[in-house]
Amino acid sequence: MRVRFAPSPTGHLHVGGARTALFNWLFARNTGGRFVLRIEDTDQERSTEASYQAIVDALRWLRLDWDEGPAVGGDFGPYFQSQRRGLYREWAGRLVKEGKAYICFCTQEEVAARRAAAGGMTEVSTYDRKCRALAPDETERRLAAGELHVVRIKTPLDGETAFDDLIHGRVVFQNANLEDFILIKSDGFPTYNFAATVDDMAMKISHIIRGDDHISNTPRQLVVYRAMGIEPPRFGHVPLIMGPDKTRLSKRHGATSMAQFTSDGYLPEAMVNYLALLGWSFDAETSLFDVADLIKKFSLAKVSATPAVFDYQKLQWMNGEYMKRRSREDKVALVLPHLERAGLVGSEVDDATRNYVGQVVDVIGERLKIGRQIIEQGAFFFKERVEYDPAAAEEFLKRHYVSAAFRVLEEKLRALEPFDVPTIETTMRGLAAEMNLKVG
Ligand code: GLU
Repeated sequence: MRVRFAPSPTGHLHVGGARTALFNWLFARNTGGRFVLRIEDTDQERSTEASYQAIVDALRWLRLDWDEGPAVGGDFGPYFQSQRRGLYREWAGRLVKEGKAYICFCTQEEVAARRAAAGGMTEVSTYDRKCRALAPDETERRLAAGELHVVRIKTPLDGETAFDDLIHGRVVFQNANLEDFILIKSDGFPTYNFAATVDDMAMKISHIIRGDDHISNTPRQLVVYRAMGIEPPRFGHVPLIMGPDKTRLSKRHGATSMAQFTSDGYLPEAMVNYLALLGWSFDAETSLFDVADLIKKFSLAKVSATPAVFDYQKLQWMNGEYMKRRSREDKVALVLPHLERAGLVGSEVDDATRNYVGQVVDVIGERLKIGRQIIEQGAFFFKERVEYDPAAAEEFLKRHYVSAAFRVLEEKLRALEPFDVPTIETTMRGLAAEMNLKVG
């Protein structure tokens, strides 16, 4: 079993991408297969080094290690598509020679103009296949003259292209809806559908596990496999991730990039557990799985075909569960950056501060579900003066008995021996009862 995660380095690693990476990784670890990381950086304008770094950082944070790919190497490299252009050109040349693809000189403008003349947009915006009929000597002549061109594949004109998806079952596409799509662009770079197919073949990928949004690419990739004379791998398309309002998950719903979850103070093991449940389930009851458990239990057979809903509340709860398993030192390390960013501790943290933060973390206890909550739950431990919420102060602190009660309480606390939690609690409860007030 050989699977791959093939991100395009054009942004952060998003929830959907992280979930795809995780499913591939779990599949590989469960089957004893190999997990390959391949960087699909053929979009010259949008690919950036910073994005590549963000993706790699996020995968490392989640501890999804890859067996082959950037930084680790492997027998099927290079693992950056931008370094594999020779291979794509070679295959394109071969397909042209075998009559399975052809050189096309039509510019985008010409294609659009002809489409408009033929009655505007047809159902699919198909290229009219003009150059498919070009005489070989004309092609030669125009190539020799240095005319700009692309390479297009000859898609079958009728019939169906079908495959058995590991998650969706049989999926059928009508070939009449496939245009002669481009394999190599006029700048010499391959298109996604061509590069991904050549690489999946060359890297001996056995199972392609990716998001549902790629399902419509699959017939195109199958056409390329057929043209290359290669048996295609198996495909499994994992369901879309939606927000609680059942629209596609986006920033409107909350954090979507792994970088954001990291900086909010989530724990990677909670994130992995939560991501695993976005489309996969073991049974109706269990939701807490540590990673060893996930590896043991994961299977594509239990991945659902219907969209998954991202529930931020549940993720927070789950993070809280994993927080309970973490040491005080871990929690201190998790909250310190938040305190620092808020200017509540300095950037040089000495032992006394560390210890104090530890005590605060202990006091907050299970209410601290994610790192950043240290601010809302505990900022007042780090300030000499506390700013009150004016509405709350109006409602509670200005009641006529409050200042009297606090004066008595202050006196009692000053004299208290021993000054510890049980004695303080007994004193406060006793005073409340005496004064006929609620403890709260
Ligand atoms: N580079 C593609 C993407 O990021 C990969 C799709 C695939 O897995 O084939 O969406």
